[in-house]
Amino acid sequence: MVTETEFRERLEAVQRRIKAACTVCGREVATVELMPVTKRHPAAVVEMAAAAGLRCVGENRVQEAAGKRGEAGKAGVRWELIGPLQSNKARLALETVERIQTVDRIKLVRVLDRLSGELGRGAGGSAILLQVNTGEDPAKHGCSEEDAEGLLEAALSAPHLRVEGLMTIGPLSTEEAVVRRTFARLRQLRDRLAEGFGIPLDVLSMGMTGDMEWAIEEGSTLVRVGTALFGEREG
Ligand SMILES: *Cc1c(COP(=O)(O)O)cnc(C)c1O
Repeated sequence: MVTETEFRERLEAVQRRIKAACTVCGREVATVELMPVTKRHPAAVVEMAAAAGLRCVGENRVQEAAGKRGEAGKAGVRWELIGPLQSNKARLALETVERIQTVDRIKLVRVLDRLSGELGRGAGGSAILLQVNTGEDPAKHGCSEEDAEGLLEAALSAPHLRVEGLMTIGPLSTEEAVVRRTFARLRQLRDRLAEGFGIPLDVLSMGMTGDMEWAIEEGSTLVRVGTALFGEREG
C-alpha cells in the first residue's frame, strides 16, 4: 500500500496533469472531477483520499465495495460502481454506492428501477450513468452507440432512476487518434442525446491513468484514476 506521503506526491502529480490538460484546451480545472479508483487496494486508501479532500471513490466490484464501505464508511465520500453489474447484485449495488456508472442494458434498467422503488428511493431516484462502448471493443461492456438511444429512453421512463450522463472505457490502444476518437464519440453522442431528449446529461465519465489528458481534452468531466494515485494493484 502507498504511504500517506507517497499518496500526497502522486495526487499532486495527477492534479498537475489535470491542470495541464485543462490549460491546453482552455477548460476550468473545476469542471473536471478526479475520482480515485480504490479497487484491489485496502480501505485505508479511501480514508487517505478523503483526508486529502477528494469527494468520491470508484470501485469495480459490488461485494468488494460493500466490504470496504463497512470499514471506511465514515470517510464521507461518495461511492460509485464502475465495473460490470449483474442483475443478482443490483440490490446490493444500490445499497452500497451512490451512483452506478455501468448501466448498459434495458433489462438492468428495469431491475434497478424496481429495486430502487422497493428501497424507497425518493426524490429523483437512484443516480446512474449509461455505459457506452464507443471504442467498439468486443472485450468491453457497454451498449453500442446504436442502442444508446433506446437505453436512454428506457432509463428516462424509469421513475426511480435518474440518468446523469454517460461513461466509457478507452481502448487499450496507445495510439492517440484511436483513443481520442473513442472519447470524442461519447461526447458527440451525449450532445445528440441531450439535444434530442432535451435533458442535460452533464456527466461524461472517461479517462484513466494512461489516457486522462486525451479524455479531458475531449470533454471528460470525471476521470477515474487508480494506478497513478495508488500504484500497482494487489492481487
Ligand atoms: C480500474 C479502472 C480504472 C482505473 O484504472 P487505472 O489505469 O489504474 O487508472 C478506471 N475505470 C475503470 C472502469 C476501471 O475498472
